Amino acid sequence: QCAKPGGDTIFGKIIRGEIPTKFLHQDDQCVAFNDVAPQAPVHFLVVPKKPIVRLADCDEGDEKLLGHLLVVAKTVAKNQGLDNGYRVVINDGPDGGQSVYHIHVHVFGKRQLGWPPG
Ligand code: 5GP
Repeated sequence: QCAKPGGDTIFGKIIRGEIPTKFLHQDDQCVAFNDVAPQAPVHFLVVPKKPIVRLADCDEGDEKLLGHLLVVAKTVAKNQGLDNGYRVVINDGPDGGQSVYHIHVHVFGKRQLGWPPG
C-alpha cells in the first residue's frame, strides 16, 4: 500500500482506496485509472504506489519501477484500443506543468496530438 507521508496527495487516497476509483490496471507496484479531466478521448494515468514526488526526485533504485510504469502504460493502451499510437508524458515540476506531486505517467490517445506541446 501507498505510505501516507506528509505531502500526501489525491493519488495516495486513490491508491489506498479512500476515493472509489475504477482501476484499468493494478498490481503490487502501481495502478492505472482514467484522468478526471481528460485531454483526449482516452487519457489515463499510471501511478506508482511508492509516492515519489516528482521525476526530479527519483534515483537509480527506482529504475525498475519507472520501467514498469512504461510497460503498464503500453499494456493498458493496448487494452484501450490505442492501436494507432498514443502519447506518454511525465510533467515535472512547475515549468513542466505538474499539478499533483506524486509522480505519474499520462497516456493520451484516440486523437491526433500536436507537436511541440503547448
Ligand atoms: P499533472 O498536471 O500533475 O501532470 O497531472 C495531474 C492530473 O491528475 C491532471 O490531468 C488532473 O486532471 C488529474 N487529476 C487530478 N485530480 C484527480 C482525481 O481526483 N482523480 C483523477 N482521476 N484524476 C485527477
